[in-house]
Order: sequence, then C-alpha cells, then structure tokens
Amino acid sequence: MYLGGIEAGGTKFVCAIGDENGKIYARERVATEEPKVTIPKVIAFFRQFDIESLGIGSFGPVDLNKESPTYGHITSTPKLAWANFPFVKTMEEALNVPVGFSTDVNGAALGELHQGAGKGLDGCLYITVGTGIGAGLIAGHRLLQGMSHPEMGHVLLRRHPEDHFDGICPYHHDCLEGIASGPALEAHWGKPASELADQPLVWEIEAEYLAQALMQYVLIVSPKRIIMGGGVMKQEQLFPMIRTRLQELLAGYVDLPELKSRINEYVVPPALGDNAGITGALILAKQALKENRVSN
Ligand code: ADP
Ligand code: ZN
Repeated sequence: MYLGGIEAGGTKFVCAIGDENGKIYARERVATEEPKVTIPKVIAFFRQFDIESLGIGSFGPVDLNKESPTYGHITSTPKLAWANFPFVKTMEEALNVPVGFSTDVNGAALGELHQGAGKGLDGCLYITVGTGIGAGLIAGHRLLQGMSHPEMGHVLLRRHPEDHFDGICPYHHDCLEGIASGPALEAHWGKPASELADQPLVWEIEAEYLAQALMQYVLIVSPKRIIMGGGVMKQEQLFPMIRTRLQELLAGYVDLPELKSRINEYVVPPALGDNAGITGALILAKQALKENRVSN
C-alpha cells in the first residue's frame, strides 16, 4: 500500500511515497514558488504512483476547522501568492484520494511521537526554530486544536538586559519569532546564524529567549517531552544552555524528575532529523485513509 506525503515549507516542498510503517520509497524536492508553478510539479510527482491517500504538513497559518468553508486552505500567510490557496481541495481533485492536512510543526510532532524522540509517550511538543518559530503539541495522542492551531512562536518575552534589537516580526516586532528565528539572528548580528557560532553572547541571548518560551509551554500545556528542531537548533551548544536556564527560571516550582534529574531526556533534538516532517505527513495520510473508511 502506497501513501503520499508532502512537507510544504516556505522554501521547498518535500514530496514522498511511503508506506504505513514510515518506510520511504521515493522522494522529490520542489521549490516553493507561486502555487501555479509549484503545484503542477507536485501533482505530476504523485501521479507516477498509485497512492491510496495523501498527508500534508503545511506552512501556515492554515484553516484546520473541518466545519469551516475554508477548511484546508492556507490563510493569511505573508507569502502573498499562497494566501487563501485551497490546498486540500486542489489535491483531492487532482489525485482523487482522501487528504489529511495539518501544520508543518504538527506533522513533525506526529512523526517524532510515532517514530522518533517521542516514541513510547502519548504526547510531546515539537518546536522548530528556523525561518520561523512554531510548535505543535500532542497530548493524550491528540493534536492540540482550539479555535485554530496554536501559534507558540509569537509569544512575548522579557528582554535580555543587553539586547535592544527591535525584532522583525511584521505583526509584533519583538515576539519570540521576531528576535530568535534564523532571519532575526541575521538581521540583529549582520551575518547568517550559521556563521555566528563563535560569538558567545549571541547564543546566551538565544538560549535565554528559548528557555523563557519553554517555561511558558511547560506551565501552560505541560508537554510530556520537548523536541527542538529547525536550522538554528543545529547550534548544539544551545541544548545544555536552554536546559540549565529553563531549570533556573522554573526555580523548582514544577517539582518533577523530567525537569530535574531527567532534563537531558526532556528537552531533546529530533531523532528523525530532517525526516520528522515527511514521516508525520505519511502518518496524516494513514489517518485520512482510516477516517475515510469509517465515513464510507
Ligand atoms: P525552514 O524553517 O525554512 O524549514 P530551517 O529549519 O533549515 O528551514 O531554518 C532555516 C534557518 O535556520 C535560516 O534562517 C538559517 O540561517 C538557520 N540555520 C540553518 N543552519 C544553521 C546552523 N548551522 N546554525 C544556525 N542557524 C542555522
Ligand atoms: Zn510575531
């Protein structure tokens, strides 16, 4: 049985053919241009295979409310060519299979929970620190979905006393994404984040903000484990700094071994590396197939 998966990102779409155990048989990268350029290439890839369903983890914001007339659309994205793009409907009509749809970070959270760093648990939080910052939460095997999907990258933080950078979020200026994403680091320090490894103050400030955000996630949604991925987290020195600062900020208030003796297993990198998103997309495909069987 073949399943299709799409990890739809701001720079590239990763399309894959896999099975229900997460084994991947074929994969293709398509650059993210306008929908009318990118989508026909994506459809042509999947038409080469006989897939039973498709799963999509997409950049957003997206509409995940199945009751809404715009369910399955990318909504108010700053990538204007993609605003209001009916992603699910387009793929259903082109491929004539059930389509599962969620955010990119929800997809990565699912992938890591089932086959990566969250294996054996019934939930985890996956946060990406990359071009943007976003997180998906699974608790009791369910993705957290309220009026919309969470937007945990846009929380406001207490500023580091030595940091006076204005921030680059077009909506909030100095929210977490506005001061701690890859592009924010580049705008602040004048060089791509990957070239700042030798500047300790950059990472001290970065770890401070990420630890503050994690503190809020721990206090508000109490994740079973926190998995931190995305390009900026390739700076591995951040992990011990974030863990220590998170413990200091919580000051023992949440008195659990996960936050004390087992903190190294609580705040962790993804086990699937760059495959988390596509693995999750295949799980969304499998779920869509199951739901479709029940409803027919
Ligand atoms: P995306 O968010 O588009 O899916 P990534 O998660 O790879 O992609 O994030 C890209 C961002 O991560 C860029 O802003 C880049 O500067 C930053 N980045 C990539 N590699 C590194 C690295 N080794 N160290 C620090 N930052 C990095
Ligand atoms: Zn913001």
